[in-house]
Amino acid sequence: MQSLRGTKDILPNEIANWQDIYIKVQQLFNICNYYEIRTPILEQTDLFCRSIGNDTDIINKEMYSFKDQGKRNITLRPEGTASIARAYIANKMYKNGKISKLWYLGPMFRYERPQKGRQRQFHQLGIECIGSSSPIADTEVIRIANKILQIFCLNNYTIEINSIGNSKEREKYKEKLKEYLNQYKKDLDEDSKKRLDTNPLRILDSKNLQTKQILYDAPKLKSYLEFTSLNHFDQVCKHLTYLEIPYIVNNKLVRGLDYYNYTAFEIKTDQLGAQETICGGGRYDELIEQLGGPMTPSVGWAIGIERLLILIKSQLNNQIKPLNIYVIAKGIEAQKQAWNVIRIIEECQINFNLDLTESNLIKQLKQANLLKARMCLIIAEEETKYNYITAKWLKNGNQEKIELSYLKAYLNAHKYLLKN
Ligand code: ATP
Ligand code: MG
Repeated sequence: MQSLRGTKDILPNEIANWQDIYIKVQQLFNICNYYEIRTPILEQTDLFCRSIGNDTDIINKEMYSFKDQGKRNITLRPEGTASIARAYIANKMYKNGKISKLWYLGPMFRYERPQKGRQRQFHQLGIECIGSSSPIADTEVIRIANKILQIFCLNNYTIEINSIGNSKEREKYKEKLKEYLNQYKKDLDEDSKKRLDTNPLRILDSKNLQTKQILYDAPKLKSYLEFTSLNHFDQVCKHLTYLEIPYIVNNKLVRGLDYYNYTAFEIKTDQLGAQETICGGGRYDELIEQLGGPMTPSVGWAIGIERLLILIKSQLNNQIKPLNIYVIAKGIEAQKQAWNVIRIIEECQINFNLDLTESNLIKQLKQANLLKARMCLIIAEEETKYNYITAKWLKNGNQEKIELSYLKAYLNAHKYLLKN
């Protein structure tokens, strides 16, 4: 049986990369006081419909939804922000009046056409800064996204940023944009034609050349923004400039989710083919209130881990780490002694593998070689009889007899050789 289309097994030889990402971002988040949160993968379908927006790709065609045994409408989460907003409200996290800085890493599910960097089960690392309307909150989250890419030594990427204003400003603009595009309706690509009535802003994002040309003279969103929106954006840009974080203003950038306002941003790279966006985010000041919580201005982003991994793959080490000690025990008495040996190895914090094949000594030594073990600790008949352990170094075949009581000192003394 194969895994489902668009899903992947993450095998032991790849796990080190995933752990490396987790450990490095965790260190960063500890320093800047972001706390990890883990919300359920299953949520009520309604949560996503009410937050992401009915005329978006995710809600229209990408959700994994089903009815459970109790006839409830359930969806496998397609993204993290809606769930975290729900958790924030359900757990009354606003009660302490403080700003909540949260991060998450976990699987998301979208029914899309699988291709390089696009899966049906994929993973996002994301942060949500909940409770501040300040432009420095926007700047801080963008700074952290940038920092993470720097930690993984990436440099071929561009931060694009835009202000999409508030919902009132956008409504006004949508009407004007629709008016303009309707004149060229027959020349628009099929997707854009459909979006004209449902979600005209998304047309700005079209990759179709002819549509792009038509958009060239379209009314600009920026002309419909009022002082507060413009000022907020201006502040964010100024702070980014002060931080010397390179960015470009893309006034056609809109996001695929409805809940954003003011700042929208994406980090793009030309190294992922069509899947050029590695990080997407923005400000969402109304979402929490819209879901029944208090007014709570917030801002966040999500990075796609599979895309991040493609970018950092070349620097990563895919090999399974070499083994330090291979433990071989022959016969029941020897096996009992092996438990004592293992306890000592563990105390020394050295990695080991206990042979479970019970095959002959030659085969077991072969196996140790295959696993690239540095040393074998052997307990066979002679060893049991005279109460010692044989340490055999695989590199040169040297052997030593060691008493159990001396084993700890021996291993500690040779730790350097074992581990390097
Ligand atoms: P795209 O335009 O590529 O479909 P999106 O706008 O739908 O992206 P977001 O919802 O903003 O993506 O999600 C943030 C990030 O999550 C993306 O930039 C990408 O890195 C990653 N991502 C989104 N969908 C997928 C997917 N199906 N497979 C792998 N990664 C994904
Ligand atoms: Mg998408």
